[in-house]
Amino acid sequence: MKVKQGDRGPIVKEIQNRLLKLGYSVGPTHADGNFGLKTKEAVIKFQKKTGLKPTGIVDKETYQKLIFESYELGDRTLYLHYPFFKGRDVLELQKILKSFGFNPGPLDGIFGPLTEKAVREFQMSVGLVPDGIVGPQTITKLFDSARNFGSSSVVIYPEREIGLEPLKDVPIALDAGHGGIDPGAVGPSGLKESVIVRKIANEVENLLSGLGARVVRIYGKETNVKLEKRMKKAKEAQVSLVLSIHLNSSEKPEAGGCEVLYAGKTSELEEKSKRIAEILASEIATSLGIKCRGAKIRKELYILKNSDAPAVIIEPMFISNPTEEKMLYQEETIKKIASAITRGVLKYFERLRL
Ligand SMILES: [Zn+2]
Repeated sequence: MKVKQGDRGPIVKEIQNRLLKLGYSVGPTHADGNFGLKTKEAVIKFQKKTGLKPTGIVDKETYQKLIFESYELGDRTLYLHYPFFKGRDVLELQKILKSFGFNPGPLDGIFGPLTEKAVREFQMSVGLVPDGIVGPQTITKLFDSARNFGSSSVVIYPEREIGLEPLKDVPIALDAGHGGIDPGAVGPSGLKESVIVRKIANEVENLLSGLGARVVRIYGKETNVKLEKRMKKAKEAQVSLVLSIHLNSSEKPEAGGCEVLYAGKTSELEEKSKRIAEILASEIATSLGIKCRGAKIRKELYILKNSDAPAVIIEPMFISNPTEEKMLYQEETIKKIASAITRGVLKYFERLRL
């Protein structure tokens, strides 16, 4: 690759945009896609600044450096990806993590396993789901914490060692309400509850397993499993919690929001189930920005009255509500629900520092 004075086209425009972003002027017509003298001068300045040979020609090395330098923290979502993400944004992240006392490995601008581990530890310490993904939520927390850290009003270091597997060996039964020949409720545009609850359950299983939990899937992969069979499975696995995922439905299209149903065959189980139900309802509603209908006792429901562990039926949204059904088509909504459930579980088991 050699892009030089006299060249034109999209690649020149991209180079100019990156130079502009880094504060170099490329002339009065800005990123016009024409590699003129001003652009050449900017390239030379950039090369001098970054220790490259000042040729004014964008070769592979200069181009890669330009890409590296022009990423700012927040420009993209960072996570452990092969090949590793490289850039100024990663370097910035590593510096912030290091200043908080975490160990992101060498400050090299490369997002490798050590940086990921430090991200997860940071997320854990501030009450985020420790998924190792640096998205908008984590970035906001990083900047907030950095500001607070400056005024030393907040202790960033974890108060106690929770570790990377805060739910290590905790057995949790996971149920997706419908499937097989049973579609569950169907939304106004035809979206099936069975499809969505399975997506959510899958995502929850990934997240909880990633935190060390022993997830016991009590629903069938293809066909619908009888409730008796599901609860037998949960009983045999001696789970500490039963999560059953459904979607709500009403004849009134305007009915919406999140509610979590609970009950317990003893007063102790009922109390514990109520606590997790309240936590989950508020986590999900907050994360989706929808109405929180709270925890509701439903003594007649089979799963709830027959569980030996605290048990809840989670109804994150109303599939019968056109607005909420629309949201359910989006991957982001599924991820948000799953992540809110995971966070709720961590809170319930007191594995988050709050
Ligand atoms: Zn259902």
